[in-house]
Amino acid sequence: MNENLRVDGQRLWHSIMAMAEIGPGQHGGSCRLALTDEDRAGRDLFVGWCREIGCSIEIDDMGNIFARREGRNAVLPPVVAGSHLDTQPHGGRFDGIYGVLAGLEALRTLHDNDVTTEAPLEVVVWTNEEGSRFAPAMIASGVYAGLFEKDYAWSRRDSEGRSLGEELSRIGYMGEKACGDHRIGALLEAHIEQGPILEAEEKQIGVVIGGQGQRWYDLRIKGRDSHAGSTPMPGRRDALVAAAEIISMVQNLALDFAPDAVATVGEMSVLPNSRNTIPGEVFLTIDIRNPDEKKLAEMARELRACVIDCIDKHQLECDLDEIWDKPPVRFDIDCIAAVAGATRDLGYASRQIVSGAGHDACQVCLVAPTSMIFVPCAGGLSHNEAESAELEDLEAGCNVLLHAMLTLAEPAG
Ligand SMILES: [Zn+2]
Repeated sequence: MNENLRVDGQRLWHSIMAMAEIGPGQHGGSCRLALTDEDRAGRDLFVGWCREIGCSIEIDDMGNIFARREGRNAVLPPVVAGSHLDTQPHGGRFDGIYGVLAGLEALRTLHDNDVTTEAPLEVVVWTNEEGSRFAPAMIASGVYAGLFEKDYAWSRRDSEGRSLGEELSRIGYMGEKACGDHRIGALLEAHIEQGPILEAEEKQIGVVIGGQGQRWYDLRIKGRDSHAGSTPMPGRRDALVAAAEIISMVQNLALDFAPDAVATVGEMSVLPNSRNTIPGEVFLTIDIRNPDEKKLAEMARELRACVIDCIDKHQLECDLDEIWDKPPVRFDIDCIAAVAGATRDLGYASRQIVSGAGHDACQVCLVAPTSMIFVPCAGGLSHNEAESAELEDLEAGCNVLLHAMLTLAEPAG
């Protein structure tokens, strides 16, 4: 009989729209930066909604909120759905908010239908996912997963010098329980895709199997400044010519590892940056990503070899520093199966997908079984006030969330 349960898409939509009115943007989106008065108001609205359906609330000392609906067996760890309520300064209405309110809508549906699960169910709100007020991003799920020390997280400051810890206390969301101590049996995060794939392939659901790995590099190429008019072409040591070759090499590197790899040179500075001097020095950044750890390592080796070849050919020197290495994450096989099974039973068009962006789920998966559910967003656009998604797709993702939670909340017999 539970298989006939469906969420109320209109109610989900109205909740998302009501949340968007807190810290409204100029162009239809939202500005609800972490731990501001707007964030407090958004949290209060969410907590009020959860209390209306009988949930208890626990807040940890990173301000993460866990709203709990009891099951028959309080010994079992809870099955948790959620995401974040903070936004970018010019944020959309859906990024993060959807995952939290889809979790709430799943619980509301069970409440309306008087369904009790075996394991307890919870909805989580992770603090400061966006990282636009306090860097780094995903800091509270990072503390939960043991990636950051709590003192480090509390001491992060915004541009006006206020610390994350002080702001947590100021808005009344510094809880008692140590972050990381709250048990999670399984975590499911529903989210808009923030990319174009589902929309282009007309799939309603992305069954997310993991997040891609990434490595970041700083590259400094050193040649020799000299006169653009009187230095013959042979014998020049032009750092920018080498940089140009390296940029196109980085592009080809991703194409060699198609279709899953991406690689980007996003930043460059040229010295002395004068039209009649041959550039003696260039700094550029390289970002390479791949969902497969071995392939990412291969890309990294190839990148290094190609850079060295190019530098030697032009008789230059360089420093290539790897400044960040984040391995790919693989989500939990049972959580993925619960999402895939619910999607199939509900008859939604779907595909497997790897998350290109970082999410709280990509942190928590290091310490608890986790997976994600993606739904399409218009043009793949996100971190933009024009971010938009269709009610039908949000409803479909929420139905998948509900049924995946129901599956995970019944221990295998
Ligand atoms: Zn998000």
